[in-house]
Amino acid sequence: MVKQWFLIILTLAFTISCSKVEKAIDTEKEVKMEETDKIVKTEEEWRKELPSEVYYIMREKGTERPFSGKYYAHKEKGIYVCAACGNELFSSDAKFESGTGWPSFYQAIAEGKIETKADLTGGMVRTEVLCGRCGGHLGHVFDDGPAPTGKRFCINSLALDFKKE
Ligand code: FE
Repeated sequence: MVKQWFLIILTLAFTISCSKVEKAIDTEKEVKMEETDKIVKTEEEWRKELPSEVYYIMREKGTERPFSGKYYAHKEKGIYVCAACGNELFSSDAKFESGTGWPSFYQAIAEGKIETKADLTGGMVRTEVLCGRCGGHLGHVFDDGPAPTGKRFCINSLALDFKKE
């Protein structure tokens, strides 16, 4: 009888300690998810949150008029971040004078910060550039950029904010 009780208690203790380990692993997963997690909002939420001109560019995939934005000729050292979610996108070190009237970069600040997608609208074959975190439209990428990448990320100023170094 004593032996049976001992076995039951042992089984219970084992079960409890196992569930604690599982919980600890779950918490670890949650933290990791938060660090890289995508921002998903409804169009209604974005519309409320973003200024209308930013909403037009970033959620309706608009394009600002060339030479109209605040960053095409901007030369300060720092980091360009997503105007919708603050995700770090481009370093001023990768910015170059493209003459197009839009801020232009030859690479993103790190892998995964941006996403690209085929864009067949307007009778053109282009590659759209989106924020890797919130999915906001940033601009397009072309293959006529300078060394070292040969890429030209042509980005709307309205899709960017600037963090001075
Ligand atoms: Fe974003």
